[in-house]
Amino acid sequence: MQQFIDTYDFAGKKAIVRVDFNVPLNEKMEITDDTRIRAAIPTLKKVLEKGGALIIMSHLGRPKGVTEKFSLKHILGRVQELLGAPVKFADDCQAADEQVAALKMGEVLVLENLRFYAEEEGKPRGEFATDEEKKAAKAVVKENQKAFVKKLASYADCYINDAFGTAHRAHASTALIAEYFPNDKMFGYVMEGEIKAIDHVLKTPEHPVTAIVGGAKVSSKITIIEKLFDAVDNMIIGGGMVYTFKKAQGGKIGRSLCEDDQMQLALDTLKKAEEKGVKIYLSKEVVIADDFSNDANTKICLNTEIPDEWEGMDAAPSTLAMWEEVLMNSKTILWNGPVGVFEIPAFAKGTNRIAEILAKATAENGAFTLVGGGDSVAAVTQMGYADKVSYVSTGGGAMLEYLEGKELPGIAAIRK
Ligand code: AMP
Repeated sequence: MQQFIDTYDFAGKKAIVRVDFNVPLNEKMEITDDTRIRAAIPTLKKVLEKGGALIIMSHLGRPKGVTEKFSLKHILGRVQELLGAPVKFADDCQAADEQVAALKMGEVLVLENLRFYAEEEGKPRGEFATDEEKKAAKAVVKENQKAFVKKLASYADCYINDAFGTAHRAHASTALIAEYFPNDKMFGYVMEGEIKAIDHVLKTPEHPVTAIVGGAKVSSKITIIEKLFDAVDNMIIGGGMVYTFKKAQGGKIGRSLCEDDQMQLALDTLKKAEEKGVKIYLSKEVVIADDFSNDANTKICLNTEIPDEWEGMDAAPSTLAMWEEVLMNSKTILWNGPVGVFEIPAFAKGTNRIAEILAKATAENGAFTLVGGGDSVAAVTQMGYADKVSYVSTGGGAMLEYLEGKELPGIAAIRK
């Protein structure tokens, strides 16, 4: 049975907590953005305040085995600082028995990167000559995974999952371990907050509801776009995916990004929107460039009249003004994906402007604004608006899968 962190009695108990400490590090192994560590602190502090001890586990990066640069020891100092308590370190997550046994209430032990073991993800590593070999290797990892999970579970009396960023993965620490804690498993505050925010947008929003979906490809966002038709009144579509729609409608898109095999699907999607009464706002005027670089020549034109050697790179001011009107008339806004080539500063203006409009809609209209996905979150954070929107999601992929209506393994494992 699922428990709740606010009512669970942690006194005298060791809690194993899956957090998402997968933070970016520079070449000197310094943390360049500690948002994810800060996000987990309320959950961690709660366990300590209530008289428990903490065993913290996470992944960092995508190591293919033990790799110094992906060691969680690099982030211990910051965890200690933010937690305000000394932090011990177990340099092998599968050999921490003695340190766990010696752990007193109020103390904290961080386990080394779970992904130093292939068993965390349950996927074999390395190259395989044949599919049979790969299948056999997978069977071995899956078999060994049982002991891996059992060992982690043996360290603790209760389990908390607070890693929303990996909730869509059925990994050892994010889902499988929950089985060992049938009556002592729960979400941390990050997970609770994420689920509440997305559920609010999908199930109990104040209307009008507007979704802004941007990004590169129709193929990766089409499921979520169609799923959202059931929840929204307006859908703003921007970024590279718009050109597939425009070409399908007979527009001239020059060298802009386009998925020719998705054109029919794009047209079908527009039809579905009409049937469901959802208003679609595709970008119209865009900033075009003669090169995919920061010092390219640029012009503004309709995205149905792009010259042959030019490509659409960002939303133009008139498009942003059209979207602003829709957004300022909305009471609930969901944003995922950049409306331009955000990583090139010259073409980040549109995405940054969306961040600004969302902050304004929140402050002036009391709109509920939920932002998710790497580039959108980076835009609100860099613009200093992270505290000025209602909720910033920590999990891009997990958020999309949840919005698509999929049952996330990390959530199901706690609830079932
Ligand atoms: P996604 O991962 O699907 O959210 O897409 C993010 C990517 O979309 C970023 O790398 C952006 O550079 C890219 N993108 C957005 N707008 C455009 C555009 N007009 N042309 C090419 N790429 C774009």
